[in-house]
Amino acid sequence: MDTKYIFVTGGVVSSLGKGIISASLAALLKARGFRVTIQKFDPYINIDPGTLNPYEHGECYVTEDGHEADLDLGHYERFTNIRTSRANNVTTGRIYQSVIDKERHGDYLGKTVQIVPHVTDEIKRAVRALGSTGGYDFVITEIGGTVGDIESLPFLEAVRQMRWELGQNALCIHLTYVPYIAAAKELKTKPTQHSVKQLQELGIQPDVLVLRTEKNIGADMRGKIARFCNVAPDAVVQSIDVDSIYKVPMKMHEQHLDEIVMRKMGVPVQGEPDMAPWSAFLDKLDNATETLNIGLVGKYVELQDAYKSINESLFHAATYAGRRVKVRYIHSEKLRDDNADEQLSGLDGIIIAPGFGQRGIDGKFAALRWCRAHDVPTFGICLGMQCMVIEYARDVLGLADANSTEMDTTTPHNVIDLMEEQKSITNMGGTMRLGAYDCELAPDSIAARAYGKTRISERHRHRFEFNNAYRDDLEKAGMRCVGVNPATGLVEVVEVPALRWFVGTQYHPEYSSTVLAPSPLFGSFVQAAIDYSKNNAPKAEN
Ligand code: GLN
Repeated sequence: MDTKYIFVTGGVVSSLGKGIISASLAALLKARGFRVTIQKFDPYINIDPGTLNPYEHGECYVTEDGHEADLDLGHYERFTNIRTSRANNVTTGRIYQSVIDKERHGDYLGKTVQIVPHVTDEIKRAVRALGSTGGYDFVITEIGGTVGDIESLPFLEAVRQMRWELGQNALCIHLTYVPYIAAAKELKTKPTQHSVKQLQELGIQPDVLVLRTEKNIGADMRGKIARFCNVAPDAVVQSIDVDSIYKVPMKMHEQHLDEIVMRKMGVPVQGEPDMAPWSAFLDKLDNATETLNIGLVGKYVELQDAYKSINESLFHAATYAGRRVKVRYIHSEKLRDDNADEQLSGLDGIIIAPGFGQRGIDGKFAALRWCRAHDVPTFGICLGMQCMVIEYARDVLGLADANSTEMDTTTPHNVIDLMEEQKSITNMGGTMRLGAYDCELAPDSIAARAYGKTRISERHRHRFEFNNAYRDDLEKAGMRCVGVNPATGLVEVVEVPALRWFVGTQYHPEYSSTVLAPSPLFGSFVQAAIDYSKNNAPKAEN
């Protein structure tokens, strides 16, 4: 069949969950046997979110092909189990960069280069390129921002043109908000009407409306919205608050969102999507009663989106293990040896988070000292792994001033150092060691047992690395380097076998955990935390 293009726009307010709706629809279509992918358009000028502070934009997600991407791509992968790539995340900056490159190259010789048609053509090319190169049945394109933003206008103009050019092979789903006014005890449709009008003024008639709401929207009110907005009554769907984002695909299917979209696009509707493995996951979630208390030590704890993929990976692993995970966020800037007991006791497992720079680093060392002393399952990720190595070198090897050259360029014991190929790099954007790399694991390691194999591939995002000059000394002192990149010899995984579960990974296992294929290493960590909670830990009061 021809590739079908679905555009998802949002109105009224931001943060309505366009990414979750897009991912849920993709999960349903995939479960019907279609080849699906999801693309995110971000209307900011940055080339990618790699240089953005997590406070601005939440976590930076990394694709296998080494693109630093919007965190919504993480949702897409977690919901669909389909890998995304550089082509799945396009920003205004990237569009302008290629238009300007073409202009300098002379591709538009003699012409005035304009938003319409040059920028809009480039946007359209990015949508179609994904459809044709991937051989997809459906390409779902989520337009970031809210209708009415100046920044989104070129994207919406491209959507208008594509709907015109593609006819039935294009469709627009508009997500809006229906607020509940408590004092009047009423749901209000006016913001939705205004938002659809704004879209219509741009020449886009939505085919399907998804209404985000806290209360059930009755058939009458949906009918009213349908009438005001020129949308078929059965194509007005509600997205009511649920206790887990992973329940949204089921909620969408109950209201036939997948069928509505297929019918409107001329795709025959046969049978039902196979959501059995997904339902099994949700059953586990609903039946999990016991709590698992995990600590996350990091400096962005005020903003949970900063650790989105770690949270989701923990959630996947705990759910499959029949536990409800409760994460205690511990601010690394406020953690010291003298309050570690108070802040960390009662936890079943502790994660030392990734990060950049000096701020909060001493709290990570204090946490690690406490974790080793109490033999709590401990998982260091990226900077967390580097901190494990530094703390071990300081407190076990006795190299008191051991450090990473990221924190102290003059340290005499640079147990973590800038990678050789990083030394000549001056540009900050997209220049880290990014994307999936192979790792060979020692067969008798915790990591190899977790993955069930010794050759793995996981995603990276860092400039600094374990300094192999210290490998022998650290190994003699009890820290094993159990995972190594076969091509470069870079150490990717460390473990301390004398402790029950003390594992650090230079890579980010959290990027590859999905509902249907949860991360094996998070699974192993969660199991260690459960065993520890049964046998050893004093229970935390909740
Ligand atoms: N700041 C460290 C580095 O660049 C770790 C990065 C991370 O935790 N993602 O190597």
